[in-house]
Amino acid sequence: MATDAPADGHRQIELSVVIPCFNEEDSLPTLVEVLATELPQVSASYEVILVDDGSNDRTLSMLRAISRERPEFRYLALSRNFGKESAMLAGLSHARGDKVAIMDGDLQHPPALLGQMLQLLHGDVQQVVARRTRDTDPPLRTFLSKAYYRLINRLIDVRLEDGVGDFRVLDRTAVNALLTLGETNRFSKGLFAWIGFGTAVVDYQNVSRAAGATKWRLSDLFNYGIDGVVSFNYRPLRLSIWFGVLVTAVATIYAIWVLGSAIANGNSVPGYVTTICAVTGFGGVQLILLGVIGEYLGRIYAEVKRRPLFLLKESSLGTPLSVTTALGPEHEDRLAAHKLLEDE
Ligand code: UDP
Ligand code: MG
Repeated sequence: MATDAPADGHRQIELSVVIPCFNEEDSLPTLVEVLATELPQVSASYEVILVDDGSNDRTLSMLRAISRERPEFRYLALSRNFGKESAMLAGLSHARGDKVAIMDGDLQHPPALLGQMLQLLHGDVQQVVARRTRDTDPPLRTFLSKAYYRLINRLIDVRLEDGVGDFRVLDRTAVNALLTLGETNRFSKGLFAWIGFGTAVVDYQNVSRAAGATKWRLSDLFNYGIDGVVSFNYRPLRLSIWFGVLVTAVATIYAIWVLGSAIANGNSVPGYVTTICAVTGFGGVQLILLGVIGEYLGRIYAEVKRRPLFLLKESSLGTPLSVTTALGPEHEDRLAAHKLLEDE
């Protein structure tokens, strides 16, 4: 069991389950109950790492109580809301299991699937991902998602799949690989695909949230979509050059035509409409291209600052943690602040 500690103080944990939680006070009681019944059936020794992502409801105090009552349930509390990506990373870097599962805290990722997923994780398969079906989604959302994935897979170098999210089980090799990627802008769906390794897929029926509300707004989805494109290659920059070349070519041909007709037919009535069209058209094109460049520039700025990816304010994991080793020595400076907080 997870509470048996060998003499050296380190115990072998087979499975870590990492769960980011942001304002999940309504889902937590059910989640803990379900996991406490489900996990002993699939793993001889497990730990659950609940990561409080700066919630402003009772999530953190509930996590404290849960970890007091049940030693397998541990928690980390980030110093503010860093977003799901960072919360997942915090959990992953503290997970000690040979296998690590990642799932949402709202029971949209059915824990009952874990057994099946764990069975697939052996030999050449180092990642098992769960793919949800879209049967219960509104048709418009399904259409937009499908269109987005068709577009993005043409644009980027790794392959992303519709319906595949963060619900997955990784073995230690894959987890360590993921932790060597020290980038600040983490589009984890892409990162999971980027690390490669043998991957198996398990399908499941979409379930609605157990309680509480989703934290995604339409604007978040839009931003997530842009992250997906620009996190993984420079093709949009290349595309914008081609687009610029095309517009310039059309404008040149038009200018020659206008000049030619002015020479042949004399000066016609000054073209108010064409002037306005040209000015606004070029203005738009330039803004788009500037935006594209700005996206990359902003990312470069975020990367060069090399800020820690998250800060911990509290945790139930007593030992000085594995983050430095897991993220590799090259990331130690970024984790210094994190370690300081933890030592207190
Ligand atoms: N989450 C988080 N930080 C955030 C937003 C969300 O840790 O800033 C967690 C949230 O508690 C949940 C998971 O990420 O466990 C997925 O969030 P949500 O259910 O709101 O997203 P959806 O399922 O609608 O995509
Ligand atoms: Mg959800």
